[in-house]
Amino acid sequence: MKFDTVVVRFGGEIGVKSEWTRKAYEKLLLRNIKKTLKHHNVSYEAFIRKRGRIYIKTKQAKEAASKLTKVFGVSSTSPAVETNSELDAVAQKAVELADETLKNNASFAVRCRRIGKHPYSSMDVCREVGEQVLTRFKGRNLRVDLKNPQHTIGVEVRDKKAYVFTETLHGVDGFPLGSQSRVICLLSGGTDSAVACWLVMKRGCPIIPVYFDNAPFTDETTTARALDVAKKLFEWSIGFPRKVYMVPHGENIRKILEKNPKKLTCILCKRMMYRIAEHIAEAENAGGIVTGESIGEQASQTLHNLRILSEAVAGYPVHRPVLGFNKTETEETARKISVFEVTTRKAASCSAAPKKPAIKAELEKVKKAEEKLPIERMVEESVKTAKIITV
Ligand code: ATP
Ligand code: MG
Repeated sequence: MKFDTVVVRFGGEIGVKSEWTRKAYEKLLLRNIKKTLKHHNVSYEAFIRKRGRIYIKTKQAKEAASKLTKVFGVSSTSPAVETNSELDAVAQKAVELADETLKNNASFAVRCRRIGKHPYSSMDVCREVGEQVLTRFKGRNLRVDLKNPQHTIGVEVRDKKAYVFTETLHGVDGFPLGSQSRVICLLSGGTDSAVACWLVMKRGCPIIPVYFDNAPFTDETTTARALDVAKKLFEWSIGFPRKVYMVPHGENIRKILEKNPKKLTCILCKRMMYRIAEHIAEAENAGGIVTGESIGEQASQTLHNLRILSEAVAGYPVHRPVLGFNKTETEETARKISVFEVTTRKAASCSAAPKKPAIKAELEKVKKAEEKLPIERMVEESVKTAKIITV
């Protein structure tokens, strides 16, 4: 069967917005869909916009349906064939599609949604299609199973047109990217920060990843992994900039190690990262800083320590989308969004990290330690030597 249309479903969270917001979100969604198709060289002839649906006319319906599952705001997609909404025409297409899909002994269900005025109900469509399929393919021993079918023949009747399909690919919903401010994301290349980035993207925030290169306390494997993770994440943000800040941070760590109790190393290092991120956020006019910290995940991530970290930046809120996730939940999400393989690739971990980091650092002591460091100059130097690369 030659599919000629993609049914794109959205709604969910977009659908419950006020009329004005919904319009703005739909416009953005449409933009992001078009950019994604263009990026993947999928050509199309037309977009038909309806409430909760976009019908895309294209000869590459299968490919388009698959690519669009990575556009935030899309609930699901189906490659489909279009026909007019007369019951005979609908049944004929459905039977053709069933012929290709239903093998011997298969179970199936017909499901129909109908919007507009028609001389039949959606139940009529299901009955008619079901009967015709059973009669036409008698020899195949097919059976109707409404509860748990192996195959579903879907029909969407929309005014004068109808769309028939057998496959529905799940999207991830969320808000269209760009519907919220961009954010600066501290991206280490590990699983937690990757998932944190994705979760804010899902709420509409385009991301600008910032990677701190801790060499010589890490090496090029760590950097390469972070860049690969960024690339993976950008698959979800087609049509938006793909830039990454690479900040040399080894010298900062060296200075920190020189003068301070070892157990404060991670706290001091992170507070520097936050400060530098704040400068970048200002330069990028970002709405916040995002990290992959979760309560108690690491010694440096006790709730107490997170407060000490946040204290280093006043101008921007620090958002921690995986704050309440445990390892399994984070990893599940990482798998779902296909970054897990990259984030768990072997890479050098920071050799400056102490064996016994402070789990309850005292702000006074942290500040005292920082007095010995030329904080302002370190931040300035880091921002100045940061490289912006497009991946
Ligand atoms: P991840 O899985 O994201 O590496 P983690 O649980 O291993 O996180 P930490 O290494 O303590 O925790 O880092 C906490 C957070 O600080 C990270 O999630 C990330 O947002 C940020 N971060 C840590 N190291 C770097 C780095 N080298 N570059 C950028 N951000 C970093
Ligand atoms: Mg890590």
